Amino acid sequence: MVKQENTAIPIGGSEVVGGKELYNINHKGYYGEFGGAYIPEMLFPNVEELRQNYLKIMAEPDFRSEFDQLLKDYVGRPSPLYFAKLLSEKYQTKIYLKREDLNHTGAHKINNTIGQILMAKRLGKKRIIAETGAGQHGVATATVCALMGLECIVYMGEIDIARQAPNVARMKMLGATVIPALSGSRTLKDATNEAIRDWINNPIDTHYIIGSVVGPHPYPDMVARFQSVVSEEIQWQLQEKEGKLKPDYIVACVGGGSNAAGAYYHFLEDTDVKLIAVEAAGLGVHSGESAATSILGKEGIIHGSKTLLMQTNDGQIIEPYSISAGLDYPGVGPMHAHLYKTGRAEFIAVTDDQAMKAGMALCKLEGIIPAIESSHALAIFEQKKFNADDVVVVSLSGRGDKDLNTYINYFKL
Ligand SMILES: *Cc1c(COP(=O)(O)O)cnc(C)c1O
Repeated sequence: MVKQENTAIPIGGSEVVGGKELYNINHKGYYGEFGGAYIPEMLFPNVEELRQNYLKIMAEPDFRSEFDQLLKDYVGRPSPLYFAKLLSEKYQTKIYLKREDLNHTGAHKINNTIGQILMAKRLGKKRIIAETGAGQHGVATATVCALMGLECIVYMGEIDIARQAPNVARMKMLGATVIPALSGSRTLKDATNEAIRDWINNPIDTHYIIGSVVGPHPYPDMVARFQSVVSEEIQWQLQEKEGKLKPDYIVACVGGGSNAAGAYYHFLEDTDVKLIAVEAAGLGVHSGESAATSILGKEGIIHGSKTLLMQTNDGQIIEPYSISAGLDYPGVGPMHAHLYKTGRAEFIAVTDDQAMKAGMALCKLEGIIPAIESSHALAIFEQKKFNADDVVVVSLSGRGDKDLNTYINYFKL
């Protein structure tokens, strides 16, 4: 077996550092009390195959060099760490933007799909399935399947297919088959159910690419490690620009939690670095139209892991709402549930209106049109005061091209 120290992909976890990690995953697949793998028996062989192999495969030098090469030449990494001068002047603190919006396909999601497609190939899989809500993860998956010449099937709710026509077209152009989920509310959770059903029926040749730090162990950990390239870059980029390896704050929006997990990863155990997680409050946290999962959520099981989710007293999932399609998920990944429960991260809720204004402000001040998800992270500067010498890194998770219609309708452009 290859020595794990040779890889730059973090190998964290308490099996490595002897149980000292308080906030990262433990060897049983839990973050504190959250995580685990709560799956139907029929899925056990697939998930177990992945669990037994993922760290070993990630530690292989061949795997790492192929991953690094693609991140560099195909995705365009490293993404810049940009000092936002005018934004910093406006809020009287030092604000850096981690420009995941400049990645190929326009967001951080490609970091994970590149990692998982290489994992699938190493496991000998021939067929890729995924679920998608707004279509962003579907596009990132269809992209890497085209790149690797693998068959790609994307499950998507019938309602979402109608709402997200440009992304459906992109997936088709990239060679994917988009299958409508016709049951239930015909949105993301129904698409997820269809994908799981497919995986149960095709256990040998199929890999299921999950798009965030959610799902049964080892998915949350695997996705966090692939996304951790973001915090790895932040370290050396800050060293170059500020002469220090760590910021005072890292801010990221949270849907399932993958861009936040990537931006936090190398700083999780270093409590000098304060973590801020921004959730979508929709029309207001207590309006009944919100996606502020950690604040409103209760412990429960969704998509195979124990976490916080929005549910009624008898355990029915409450449909989330946010103006941002990438944030309206009724749960949150188990890492984030743990960060919330332990107080390691501060959770701030931002409404549709606050996010839209912050997004527009960034356009005017810095010439950058952000994804509405990322605009939620930017909105905290109106709520929270920072010191003049604080270094605040904001994960700019994606670009706003996909959201133009929402911006047009909201601002009557
Ligand atoms: C999907 C998406 C998100 C939310 O997903 P996380 O897993 O929480 O990062 C945030 N920003 C953008 C641009 C997205 O596409």
